[in-house]
Amino acid sequence: RREGLGALLDAESVSSDGVHVELAANIGSPDDAAGARAAGAEGIGLFRTEFLYMGRDSLPTEEEQFAAYKKAAEAFKPGAPIVIRTMDIGGDKELPLLDLPKEDNPFLGYRAIRISLDRHDLFKTQLRAILRASAHGNVKVMFPMIATLAEFRAAKALLMGCRDELVAEGIAVGDGVEVGIMIEVPGAAMMADRFAREVDFFSIGTNDLTQYTMAADRMNEKLTALGDPMQPAVLRLIERVIRAAEAEGKWVGMCGEMAGQPHAVPLLLGLGLQEFSMSANAVLEARALIRQLSKQEMAALAAEALDLDSPQAIRELVEARVPAVL
Ligand code: PEP
Ligand code: MG
Repeated sequence: RREGLGALLDAESVSSDGVHVELAANIGSPDDAAGARAAGAEGIGLFRTEFLYMGRDSLPTEEEQFAAYKKAAEAFKPGAPIVIRTMDIGGDKELPLLDLPKEDNPFLGYRAIRISLDRHDLFKTQLRAILRASAHGNVKVMFPMIATLAEFRAAKALLMGCRDELVAEGIAVGDGVEVGIMIEVPGAAMMADRFAREVDFFSIGTNDLTQYTMAADRMNEKLTALGDPMQPAVLRLIERVIRAAEAEGKWVGMCGEMAGQPHAVPLLLGLGLQEFSMSANAVLEARALIRQLSKQEMAALAAEALDLDSPQAIRELVEARVPAVL
């Protein structure tokens, strides 16, 4: 299947009926950015910044983080979107440095934005570094694990405060930096219409959205069938989120594993997803697939899929209509 994909390196990510989407990469280190571009990614849809904090004995400074974010941005063409997610510590990603109490249910615990909103020292250092990097590229800020409007508003207020401070200090920041959230908590998906009024974009994190929707630990190998993003319940939430964003004219991407899965791509295109962020090595295959698909036909396919009642039935439908996914 991968043969001949190299020819698509500089091809557009466009459906057969002329709808453009963006194919971006997920990275965990600035050193991954150049490789992601070489693999065909048009930008970064998810920079997992927590990896900058892990495996060391002091917290990364503002300067270190600034250099990391700037490096990621500069690996791409000027203007390429670079979505930097603020740190998502907790869950399966431990940070002994913070000396957090051990929890019985870390995935339902003190993680990500919940920590950031308590630890302004840590959070503001990161926000300042991201804002400084925004003077060097099309950098966007994304908050992980948002569950409530209040969390988003508090995080955004801290971001705006940092921006004012930087401006007062005479330090360059980009204009109109977009601020978005991950949709990975079902409660946020249900409130997507309200969030859509206030955010600039959504990125659907199907890894966590699936585990929380299906109550199936994403690390538990016995639960892989249950924790399948093609579960109709997950698909329905995804549709809800996309419609909510559309109603407010905001863009929607996805940065969970699902975004690069061949069976999912036709449905996501049909539902109106605009940005697909995945492991860099999945980009060319996704581009090849999208170029063969009609967005209009996929919209009809997605509508049918949303009526089915199991991942198996949904996959069979996709295979019957889009044999290229096999
Ligand atoms: C997700 O939850 O889908 C996601 C992209 O974030 P992470 O895998 O880093 O939790
Ligand atoms: Mg997640």
